[in-house]
Amino acid sequence: MTDTMPAGRITVAGVAVAALAALALLAPGARAQVRPPAGAQPRAATGAALDTAALRAAVERVAAATIEIRHDLHQHPELGNREVRTSLVVAERLRALGLEVRTGVARTGVVAVLRGARPGPAVALRADMDALPVTEATGLPYRSTARATYSGQEVGVMHACGHDVHTSVLLGTAAVLAGMRDRLAGSVVFVFQPAEEGPPAGEDGGAEVMLAEGAFRDPRPSAVFALHTDPELPVGAYSYTPGPALASAASFTAVVRGRQAHGARPDLAVDPIVTAAQVVLALQTIRSRNLSPFAPSVLTVGILRAGERANIIPAEARLEGTIRTYDSAVEDTVKRRMREIFEGTTRAAGAAFTLEFGRSLPALVNDRALTARMVPTLVRVAGEANVREVPPKSFSEDFSYFANEVPGLMLWLGVQGPGPVSGPLHSPTFVADDGAVPAGIRAMAALVVDYLGGGGR
Ligand SMILES: [Zn+2]
Ligand SMILES: [Zn+2]
Repeated sequence: MTDTMPAGRITVAGVAVAALAALALLAPGARAQVRPPAGAQPRAATGAALDTAALRAAVERVAAATIEIRHDLHQHPELGNREVRTSLVVAERLRALGLEVRTGVARTGVVAVLRGARPGPAVALRADMDALPVTEATGLPYRSTARATYSGQEVGVMHACGHDVHTSVLLGTAAVLAGMRDRLAGSVVFVFQPAEEGPPAGEDGGAEVMLAEGAFRDPRPSAVFALHTDPELPVGAYSYTPGPALASAASFTAVVRGRQAHGARPDLAVDPIVTAAQVVLALQTIRSRNLSPFAPSVLTVGILRAGERANIIPAEARLEGTIRTYDSAVEDTVKRRMREIFEGTTRAAGAAFTLEFGRSLPALVNDRALTARMVPTLVRVAGEANVREVPPKSFSEDFSYFANEVPGLMLWLGVQGPGPVSGPLHSPTFVADDGAVPAGIRAMAALVVDYLGGGGR
């Protein structure tokens, strides 16, 4: 991909100066600082256990500057596929570290490669950069007052899913690992992804497009790691789910077509409301009658719309909803049974129907072998008490595309600090404590050092 973004543009915004100052602090001249302190024994390049004290010290050196970048990103959130300024900050920072940088991947995505001094496998780390149409109500000194147009409406914009933390953590991780380049056996691919929350209507974007545009092509990673903020976990704690971890999400839109008539003459009508109501109820039997009790799933009809007047049987009814599963075979069964229920119910009523499935996000399945191999690394970094296995959650994440491509692991990163209690993800009161930034860098850098130290798989 060609570099489509003029680097000078970042200096146009006055507030970006803070970010640039932070970048300068982390520029290549600072690289020597990330070496172990004098007298410390440098770790052997392969096979040796992670030197957690040296890593902790290296993370401490980049923490303040990375938190400054995080505040800057938080104050300048951008919606999916519009992360223009964010991707400039990211690319600028990665170039300053001496990485090979590609911009404009899936519109605003950035892919950077750090090649270690010694040969070895490649490992990928992914952060997402997009914010949400949410008006921030946190009262933080670095809160967002940004506004943008979303689906034709003016909205507040906020990093209400913590992607500012993910992005800055990955930048800090790049700084730490760039300082260890001479001891790395293999390569690290840094993936900064747009539009994780979904592209605007009529556009494509996100992880799937980054892969199609070669994010994993040169070098090809043999594993991929990511983390996501969790406001219910304290800073310094991490959690993970081996195997199926986050749900797939598929949307659907259906129209039941009947025949319009006077509300007093149902014998002349084909009533789409009664038919749609039967469909809605029958859809709930998929979960209870067609699937194993051990195969969790959700089918929700969120919209059922029909009619304009109390005494008219309308011509059609519209249904929209979402399907969540943890297994593509379960999703296939749900979709097949939905079609059969629409077919059978509308035929019995003398009605017709259309049923369309929208963008479908695969379930996130953490690779069990990779998870088992990397958990000891987390335990060494954070201590046994701060690393927890947790059950799957019903959110969705398009990191699943990366994890379907190569073995993947996404961690939950604790962001609840001593300050204000955070609202849930996607809420206007979501707060991630700054301490989550160094905590995230420690985990990401340690995963890479141990993975490459062990020679990949
Ligand atoms: Zn989100
Ligand atoms: Zn998110």
